[in-house]
Amino acid sequence: MSSSDQIQRILFDEIDVRGALVGLEEAYAEVLARADYPERIEVVLGELLAAVVLLTSNLKIEGRVSLQAQGEGSVRILMAECTHDNHVRGIARVEEGPLPDDERFDRLLVNGRMALTIEPNSGQRYQGVVPLEGASVSECLERYFSQSEQLPTKIQLAADGKRAAGMLTQVLPAAGSGAADWEHIVALAQTLKTDELLELDNETILYRLYHEERVRLFEPDPLIFKCECSRERSANAMQMMTEEELLEVAEEHGGQLEMSCQFCNEVYRFDSADIQALFRNDGHLNDDNSLH
Ligand SMILES: [Zn+2]
Repeated sequence: MSSSDQIQRILFDEIDVRGALVGLEEAYAEVLARADYPERIEVVLGELLAAVVLLTSNLKIEGRVSLQAQGEGSVRILMAECTHDNHVRGIARVEEGPLPDDERFDRLLVNGRMALTIEPNSGQRYQGVVPLEGASVSECLERYFSQSEQLPTKIQLAADGKRAAGMLTQVLPAAGSGAADWEHIVALAQTLKTDELLELDNETILYRLYHEERVRLFEPDPLIFKCECSRERSANAMQMMTEEELLEVAEEHGGQLEMSCQFCNEVYRFDSADIQALFRNDGHLNDDNSLH
């Protein structure tokens, strides 16, 4: 049995290397249930979900991490997000018509870019953007890590529309680039096949790869699909437009403005009193007037 909807951290005892294993099933199904994506998009979106959970597990922040690939062709946006308490969500924006007939991930998105955004609940937002270069999602990410001079990192990802999984191995910050045996750990990681990553449980994967090493597998943390959208956040997004513009749109739609969340399909409604309150109260909704 594979280990699903959980993230499990790994620590090598005698070498300065850490890692994590992730498997997603129900959370992945919830993401895919929100839209009718082509099979190829389901696969890459699953890989991005697995990747963002792995990256979040390594950061000691309270907040959220998102991984976004953007392109100018028919695939516009692929986005996956994970919070410190392991709530995941994801979305793809794909235009009608055939996808590029190319196996390479970087050719699926025309002039693609990849952005990693870290948003702590308090403190500075960080974003790194690099051109999308690599045959697979994991190759693009590894290139991102080497270009942004991060710690040596190996990322393996797999998804098939039903299950998404990933393994991360990384040199510990204290060791810098000088971890002994790093090459050896990576060489063994590379022997893991895609179907093994998708089908085997975490203990079996670790034994299969590293039974000669002293390696610890921590207690698993559960993962769930949960959207972080809110009425307040929708209201903030509306303020890209002016009060007059918003009132006009509301009037055109029978006195109510509807904002729907693309991640979870939740609909937030605002009437003209809500819109006026928003601009009067410095970006805050007046709860007395709010609709639900
Ligand atoms: Zn939502």
